[in-house]
Formats: sequence, structure tokens, C-alpha cells
Amino acid sequence: TQPLDARWAVLWIHEAARVVAENRARLIELDRAIGDADHGENMDRGFSAAVAKLDAGEAPGTPAAVLKQVAMTLMSTVGGAAGPLYGTAFLRAATFLGDAEEIDAAAAAGMIGAARDGIVARGKAESGDKTMVDAWTPATDAAATATQSGANASEVLAAAAAAARDGAVATEPLIARKGRASYLGERSAGHRDPGAESTALILQVAAETAGG
Ligand code: ADP
Ligand code: MG
Ligand code: MG
Repeated sequence: TQPLDARWAVLWIHEAARVVAENRARLIELDRAIGDADHGENMDRGFSAAVAKLDAGEAPGTPAAVLKQVAMTLMSTVGGAAGPLYGTAFLRAATFLGDAEEIDAAAAAGMIGAARDGIVARGKAESGDKTMVDAWTPATDAAATATQSGANASEVLAAAAAAARDGAVATEPLIARKGRASYLGERSAGHRDPGAESTALILQVAAETAGG
């Protein structure tokens, strides 16, 4: 495991960009089934831009500063529903972390919860509406539970990532009640939500880069 400092945050975003690019076609196919087939493209554009921005300037000095810059880039480049939602998530995570140099277990759990709360505040989706909230909420709960049972920061991220993965899979039978997929009504059932899947990927690399 490595300290979850600004360097780690930069590494996380690099890996997020890599895994989003690698899964671009898959995310497009998921969105083709219940949306407008652009989630992979939107996310790839946003995370590529976030990496380009981080690589171009002087690296921000705290994890929060990294995440705030990422938030701004996502908001201005992703478009669609996911841009403001992920932008708000990263911004709230940054605000939660404040000027901390390193993210400990409680801060790791707190930043995930803050991200989830931002997504809910912005998009007003509830659990079971078949959105990215169905990955973020189990991740938040698992991270809190792991923290309470004495897990370290990397174990907290691993618990969150596993719960997000299960949550994304569990969106498959659901009928969408928010976002574009809700236009399909019952025909949205039988497909995984693309935003829940991208959330699982991004949290998975958070855990992996933390060594968990
Ligand atoms: P768009 O739907 O505008 O084309 P994307 O395809 O990039 O945007 O993102 C779609 C994803 O956004 C969905 O799979 C879902 O996870 C998420 N989403 C849409 N609306 C909401 C909402 N109100 N709350 C939370 N997540 C939402
Ligand atoms: Mg779409
Ligand atoms: Mg779209």
C-alpha cells in the first residue's frame, strides 16, 4: 500500500482514464441498449482531458486540489448527464478532504460518501432507480462499515470497489426511473446501467492504485 497523497490522486486519475478508454466500447454498448450510446465516449473524452490537464501543469499539492481540477475538467468536457454528476462527485469529494496531505481510512470513506451525496443532490435519484447511485450508495455503505471495523485506507477503497461492482451488476433487472433510460420504462430491465458500470471501474482502480 502507498500513502494516499496528491501523487496517488494523480495516479488514480491516470488509471481511471486508462480503464475508461479500455472500456469505451463496452460503455457505449451498455448505453446503446438503454440510452443514446455515448457514455463511453463522454467518459473517455472527460478523463482524457483531465489527464492532459494534470500532465500539462504543475501537479496540484493535495489530493483535494487534484480532485477539484478533475471536477472542473469533467464538468466542462463530458456533457450529457454524466458530466455534471461526476463533476459534482469529484468536487464534493475534494471539499470533504479539505487541505489534508494524506487520505486516511475515515477520509477515504468520507470522500466516497460526499461524492455520493453530491450525485444525489444533483440528480435526485434514489436507490433502485437504476443509475450510478446504485453503485455509489453500496460503495459508501461498505466504506463506512470497513472503516468502523478498523480497515486501513486501501482496504476501505477495496471494500467500496467490491460493493460498487455488485451494485452495478444488480442494476440489470431494475426498471429505470431517472435519466434517459427511464424513457424506456419496463424495456430498460435486463440491461446494466452504464453510469453504475463506469463508477465500478473508477472505484476499482482507486483501490488497485492504493494497493488494496
Ligand atoms: P446522457 O444520458 O445525457 O447521454 P451519459 O450517457 O454520459 O449521459 O450518462 C448516463 C448515465 O448517467 C446513466 O447510466 C446513469 O447512471 C446516470 N444518470 C442519468 N441521470 C441520472 C440521475 N438523475 N441521477 C444519477 N445518475 C443519473
Ligand atoms: Mg448517454
Ligand atoms: Mg448523451
